Amino acid sequence: MGIEKRFKGLGVSPGISSGIAHVRETGVVDIPEYEIRKKDIKTEENRLTRAVRLAQRQVRRLQSRAKEMANEAGDELWALLDAYLLMLDGSRLVRGAEKRIGAQKINAEAAVQLEIAEISGAFQAMDDSYIAARLDDIREVGNRILLNLGKHPLRPLSVLPKGSIVIAENLSPADMAQLDPSTVCGVGTLLGGAEGHTAIVARALGIPSVLGAAALMDGIRTGDPVIIDGSAGLIVVNPNSDTLKRLGRRRAELEKTTKRLARLKTQPAISRDGTTFKLQANIELPIEMKMIGQVAAEGVGLMRSEFMFMNRPTVPTEDEQFGIMRQIVEGMNGHPVTIRTLDVGADKAADAVVGEMDDSVTTALGLRGIRLSLLKPELLETQFRAMLRAANYGPVRILLPMVTTVNEVLRARKILVKAAAQLKRRRVKIPPQLPALGTMIEVPGAALAADALAQVSDFLAIGSNDLTMYTLAVDRANEHVAGLFDPLHPAVLRLIQFTTGAAMKARIPISICGEMAGDPNLTVILAGLGLREFSMSPSNIPRVKQRIREMDAVAASNRANLIMDQVDSGRIRMLLDDFNGLA
Ligand code: PEP
Ligand code: MG
Repeated sequence: MGIEKRFKGLGVSPGISSGIAHVRETGVVDIPEYEIRKKDIKTEENRLTRAVRLAQRQVRRLQSRAKEMANEAGDELWALLDAYLLMLDGSRLVRGAEKRIGAQKINAEAAVQLEIAEISGAFQAMDDSYIAARLDDIREVGNRILLNLGKHPLRPLSVLPKGSIVIAENLSPADMAQLDPSTVCGVGTLLGGAEGHTAIVARALGIPSVLGAAALMDGIRTGDPVIIDGSAGLIVVNPNSDTLKRLGRRRAELEKTTKRLARLKTQPAISRDGTTFKLQANIELPIEMKMIGQVAAEGVGLMRSEFMFMNRPTVPTEDEQFGIMRQIVEGMNGHPVTIRTLDVGADKAADAVVGEMDDSVTTALGLRGIRLSLLKPELLETQFRAMLRAANYGPVRILLPMVTTVNEVLRARKILVKAAAQLKRRRVKIPPQLPALGTMIEVPGAALAADALAQVSDFLAIGSNDLTMYTLAVDRANEHVAGLFDPLHPAVLRLIQFTTGAAMKARIPISICGEMAGDPNLTVILAGLGLREFSMSPSNIPRVKQRIREMDAVAASNRANLIMDQVDSGRIRMLLDDFNGLA
């Protein structure tokens, strides 16, 4: 057994597990190589340019992690990555591949492969150890470009032996969604923030996970025994017997708490002074229905429909979407299900939707959420038809993501009416009344215009994850700024307060479905601001319910008044901790 090594990171999904490391190789499989027509040359050249730019961004991100290591190994890694960056900036590899696309009329992958082969041939003839090392670098850079060119570039993660702990440089939300919690018992990555969708999916699957652990990839190999402590944010490789004993005790304690909380299942979410709250579940994958049943959620407050579009080469058909929605609606036994239209963009990619569009689709300020749906109205129409059909099986509400203007809601409503008319023409049964159409408030501009948006919406739902990200200009999926992601920043709280007030004035329902809603330490401030409907990862429902049952709603409101007078989030946290009995 090797020496014990520890890596600190962000504990994003609680629980402690031990298993065997499966280090996700960045090796390449199935590279498609084919001839192209003259008219496709430009497209292939653009694909190559995008893949190279993405590789530059990836290497720069790794480089800044290397800098943080602040030791010799870090310096060495930094220099190596610097050499990679030079290579990506118009070196022979990149220029050569670019030329080959037009000259030989071949796809970008084939051009990169051929260029690597030719450079290798020339280098090998030199028989020099320094040159051999450079050749490895060229292959590494070439592989990175090839990976970025592929739509499904990496070996699927869905088939791993039982007891695996997945270790990777980075996992996308789609990668994480592929993991099977019956075989994968933990995840550790070098990159990633606590509020990104990769973290959200880890919590959804209940897989203990630590993201953003610096220097992780250098200290671990496939087959090493590993412990993931997703509660404390710790990864231990080759744990010694003392560590095993200590973590075993902690695991037993955590399990005891979970069991104790499970007893709350049949208890209502009512505060000590009699205020009733509605605790609903967020759902990404059908597998979560089991957990939703276990905690007796009073409905689904957010179904992230984009997960139906991931890990597949084509967009799901109306029937496929309807099938999944119906299963969830029926599973909720008469409780409402709030289905959100597609929210692709920022850290959520779905190749089938984005197709041939360029990189701007995937940026946080680009064609995200409703913007993309309105650009491709046939997508929205299909989703609406599936939702309308699912509404025959139980109450359904429809939610629009990333809204910034009243006009977006009006246009979406028109498309909803059109979708209903299409179904009627097809003689497909739909409920006599259209489902309520709600707006997510997750952009600061939308929050400040919540009074106007409330006039055209049937309900509002606060997305505090994006609201925090966009208000504070902090990427929720980036480990470097994880410490700055603060939903208790007065700016975020004021936007939540204004939005809640606007919905109340307009007499429409208002809920909150960001990660804040599932943090029992924040229940007081949200309740104090007047919120009564919380939607969260189902595993958090018992803890929030417990907090509500021991809380006094009037006292919470008084504490919220005091908090809203503060200008400093440190002081706000202190006032909250004090109220929660933690100070
Ligand atoms: C949010 O932004 O708070 C939200 C609930 O939506 P998502 O996390 O899917 O972006
Ligand atoms: Mg959001």
